[in-house]
Amino acid sequence: MEQIALWKSTPKEITMYNCATDIVLDGPKNAEIQATIYKCYDYIHEYRKILCAISGGYDSDIVLDLVIRCGGKEKTDFVFYDTGLEYDATKNHIAYLESVYGVKIRSIEPKKHIPTCVREYGVPFWSKYVSDMVYRLQRHNFQWEDGSVEELLEKYPHCKSSLRWWCNEWGDKSRFNICYTPGLKEFIQRFPPPRISAMCCEKTKKDPAHMLEDSGDYGLAITGVRKLEGGKRSTTYKSCFDQDFFRLSRFRPIFWWGDREKEIYRKHYGIVRSDCYEVWGMDRTGCAGCPFGKEFDEELKRVQIFEPKRYQAMLTVFGESYDYTRKFLEFREKMKIKEKPKDNRQTRIEGV
Ligand code: SF4
Repeated sequence: MEQIALWKSTPKEITMYNCATDIVLDGPKNAEIQATIYKCYDYIHEYRKILCAISGGYDSDIVLDLVIRCGGKEKTDFVFYDTGLEYDATKNHIAYLESVYGVKIRSIEPKKHIPTCVREYGVPFWSKYVSDMVYRLQRHNFQWEDGSVEELLEKYPHCKSSLRWWCNEWGDKSRFNICYTPGLKEFIQRFPPPRISAMCCEKTKKDPAHMLEDSGDYGLAITGVRKLEGGKRSTTYKSCFDQDFFRLSRFRPIFWWGDREKEIYRKHYGIVRSDCYEVWGMDRTGCAGCPFGKEFDEELKRVQIFEPKRYQAMLTVFGESYDYTRKFLEFREKMKIKEKPKDNRQTRIEGV
């Protein structure tokens, strides 16, 4: 057994075991976590070279810890997609993780950083899906008018899927309809949006990730996506593992975990999260001030205290989106429109 000494503030040590059962016996007494350890151990030992994305958030902290405990340290490339709008707290945490676990977390620069994307394509608004729909319609100079899909298609022939969203034509109660976000259609018609786009997600995260994934260097990609996140990222997947014999298999170790499992794991292994959680008191983190976080005003208050320079940058980059979102929330309040209860426990992050 090899012992790896951890950072001073984390008394737990990582013990390198020779089989999954020993890790489980020493791990948290929770069936979901135990099942995850077995799976993680097996996949890590099955694949020759692994790619693992680290964001500096709570979920990715757990995934990093799991991968190392299950013996993936030597065969895994850990990468951090730097969007150009990251908290110092996040970057410091990445450095901390490198030091604690003795790994290199490679920072991947995008071709375009968030501020450039926002300038070129528009600001993210509300959610990834809503932003995509609005972006597509704006590209075709849509005038936010009423009409059936057939009628509107005659005028705007190249945006069928976004017109189906606009006309609520995805089927009853579908989350792909605009009515899934109550009041949004009425609001947009009354107050046409500024240039909206979630292209920063494509340019700073997806494109660089695809480049690495398509390099042919890796057999398995590991990410910290959870079903409970809600949103497009999690609803795209049906399970924690997608096998691809010819290209890249994908494993999402904590896909089925609830917040409870995360807490059990964190406490058991003494995981220390970034200052965004431990000091600022946030319950999630990501790109600094992403307007998809519904509680961005709360986030702004904390950033103003802890990273005032970043606060100014966030206002400069996303100010238009904050204003438009606040206006929408006021509109809903005035019209007494209530948001529908979502079918997951967490607030909207990047979903519909
Ligand atoms: S999470 Fe938000 S800020 Fe970050 S890249 Fe995606 S849309 Fe842009």
